[in-house]
Amino acid sequence: MKCKLCPLHKSRTFAVPGEGPVTARVMFVGEAPGAKEDESGKPFVGRSGELLTTMIQEIGFSRNEVFITSILKSRPPKNRTPTQAEVKACRPYLEKQIEIINPEIVVLLGGVAISSLIGPWKLSEAHGRFYETDERTYFMTYHPAAALRFPKTKTAMREDFQILRKELV
Ligand code: URA
Repeated sequence: MKCKLCPLHKSRTFAVPGEGPVTARVMFVGEAPGAKEDESGKPFVGRSGELLTTMIQEIGFSRNEVFITSILKSRPPKNRTPTQAEVKACRPYLEKQIEIINPEIVVLLGGVAISSLIGPWKLSEAHGRFYETDERTYFMTYHPAAALRFPKTKTAMREDFQILRKELV
């Protein structure tokens, strides 16, 4: 991926488009690549990724049967929050991914994914809830990085995943 649609291409090592089968029933959308992802070109391979992988397995899926990506495909310097301009520039990629994979549920991990795809929500109210449009079903939960920082968030995220599991039987 040699994208130059935003200035992040100058500081990144590899773009991280995401990975998973085109037949995936679920798509997980994070915020942006971190250091490990930037070094490898693969999504969610750092500590957040380990936790996400565990939680995916806990609801009966293996990592390689779901699609995993993020709002931004290039790492922001020092993992700063994506700017609106970056989100806008990167958006066509995610839209195409969602269109092609056509997952049953798009799982939005954290505030940046939620606000970028469906608009502003308070995470404390949004988490554990589905959001339906004419074309899509979204499910809102925390970002695994927040779950790594706060034990209560990790518990809440695990509970959210059980709600998700019930929808996917
Ligand atoms: N956090 C994200 O949001 N995405 C990644 O790919 C890695 C960490």
